[in-house]
Amino acid sequence: MHAEPCSACLKPVHLCVCEAVEPIDNAVFLLILQHPQEKRETLGTAQIAHLQFRNSALKVGLSWSNLKRILGREVDYKRWGVLYLGPVKQGAAPLPEMSIVDKGGVPQRDSDLVLADLEGVIVLDGTWSQAKTLWWRNPWLLKCRRIVLNPQFRSLYGQARKEPRRDSVSTLEAAAFLLSRLEAEPAILDRALKPFSLLLKKLRAPRPVATPRAEAEESASERALDKGEAE
Ligand SMILES: [Zn+2]
Repeated sequence: MHAEPCSACLKPVHLCVCEAVEPIDNAVFLLILQHPQEKRETLGTAQIAHLQFRNSALKVGLSWSNLKRILGREVDYKRWGVLYLGPVKQGAAPLPEMSIVDKGGVPQRDSDLVLADLEGVIVLDGTWSQAKTLWWRNPWLLKCRRIVLNPQFRSLYGQARKEPRRDSVSTLEAAAFLLSRLEAEPAILDRALKPFSLLLKKLRAPRPVATPRAEAEESASERALDKGEAE
């Protein structure tokens, strides 16, 4: 039997990160679409991102008919960006930290103008293959602007999660990076990542032994760490 997870961060109680949550008033809306299997991932960060950004929503599922259905309001797809998973055709110029690419994966010249005008961004949460599944099962995503990130930092995941993920960074890191740049507020990045650092610290810390239940939970966390994906 498992103890109930924390009702706010949804982590097992001994991994609760709520003490590090410090919500940010973001202007650009953050929508996270989460693959159902990712929901059970100990190292998952979607719920943390949702808690850290006040202007956000987290939806779990495989497909939705359109963006209006999800948000409950009219949307202009041209003012919505989705983190793009496909290949990017890079020219001679180095890829900027953030750009908009066209349907062929070619960076657009008016990237900065498009980015400055975004009303919201969509991040697909899951492993690479799960995110791909979400991409293909929601054709309306093709109407959104395609954002490509080229973050110049190493993911906090380090060796914790071996399963390759798109961009090799967590959903929280991708969202925080994106919003810190879109809102020209570099401090957002560090502040948003604090609960994630705490999660990794708690997972790695040797736990004071005691009850058989605590041991069972610990070995479950270790298995999650070893496997990367707990499915
Ligand atoms: Zn919590």
